[in-house]
Amino acid sequence: MEHTSSTPAPDALVGLVIAVDGTSGSGKSSTSRGVATRLGLRYLDTGAMFRAMTWWLLREGVDVHDAGAVAARCGEPDIVSGTDPENPTITVDGTDVAVEIRGDAVNGAVSPVSAVPEVRARLLDLQRAVIARETRAGGIVVEGRDIGSVVAPDAPVKVYLSADPEARAVRRAAEQGATGATDVAATQESLLARDRIDSGRATAPLVRADGAVHIDTTPYSLEEVIGLVVGLVEDADARVRAAR
Ligand code: C5P
Repeated sequence: MEHTSSTPAPDALVGLVIAVDGTSGSGKSSTSRGVATRLGLRYLDTGAMFRAMTWWLLREGVDVHDAGAVAARCGEPDIVSGTDPENPTITVDGTDVAVEIRGDAVNGAVSPVSAVPEVRARLLDLQRAVIARETRAGGIVVEGRDIGSVVAPDAPVKVYLSADPEARAVRRAAEQGATGATDVAATQESLLARDRIDSGRATAPLVRADGAVHIDTTPYSLEEVIGLVVGLVEDADARVRAAR
């Protein structure tokens, strides 16, 4: 696997994990991919894994609001995430589902599926295997809801992104090609509904992890947020060097 950026990750942090958590639509994916590309790191979108699981359950006709039924089947699909930040891929049993997992059906079902402990345990194992592989090879930016708190609590750089709900909805609706006020309103309601379930669940809820730096992305451009996170990585690198 080739790293696509010419800028190497700071020396002292070879093997590093950068944990990026935050609310839906706060800019986690664009920021994480940009940081990984700038620093020559790999990238893991854990949300895509929960979405892929949800897509498969829906296709199988499993009632996603029946936690027992979800738990009984969630060990079956083979979910594989590609970690190139410039071309992240996601397959289920060998089928590319990158487009399908962004549709309304998955948007509406992913949060209840993600609240099921057996789903989280299964995907946690897959996530940690990817992280172990990629940190041996160089380092990785991992985005989700529980990365800094549960998946990689020892990550030397942790970021928690948030943004004003209306700004998030406008950005997300624009990404999806919708610009009308109703579409923005519907998008905002869908984002907030996911936030409510993600923050309120018993297992690995969305929280600002201990040690995470909170960035409200509302007033910043994407490039500015990427620059802020790269700055945090450089600060962490300097701290590790100073402690040597
Ligand atoms: O990041 P994204 O919005 O694609 O995530 C979709 C959903 O997957 C979230 O709303 C949440 O329910 C779930 N998720 C999670 N834990 C993660 C990443 C995503 O529960 N680490």
